[in-house]
Amino acid sequence: MAQETSDTCPQCRKLFVGAVEVRTMKIEGIATVVCEETPDRNWIQCDSCGLVICKSCCLDAGSGFCNTCLKPPQTAVSGTATA
Ligand SMILES: [Zn+2]
Ligand SMILES: [Zn+2]
Repeated sequence: MAQETSDTCPQCRKLFVGAVEVRTMKIEGIATVVCEETPDRNWIQCDSCGLVICKSCCLDAGSGFCNTCLKPPQTAVSGTATA
């Protein structure tokens, strides 16, 4: 069975490495959930649609959104110029 795993980028098939560790820290006596990514993490999960994509394919990995969600949901005019 050639079932796709979720461990590879849907665009470039690169294997995801790294992880996000959720840990609970006590800051001034208040339990706070902190998400920390490992230094070798090469992927992001889109905050909007939940898609996991590697940082190389993502146009703006720092934003936390996938390429689809970075762009406004409008149909792009793709050069249909008829002379
Ligand atoms: Zn990729
Ligand atoms: Zn998205």
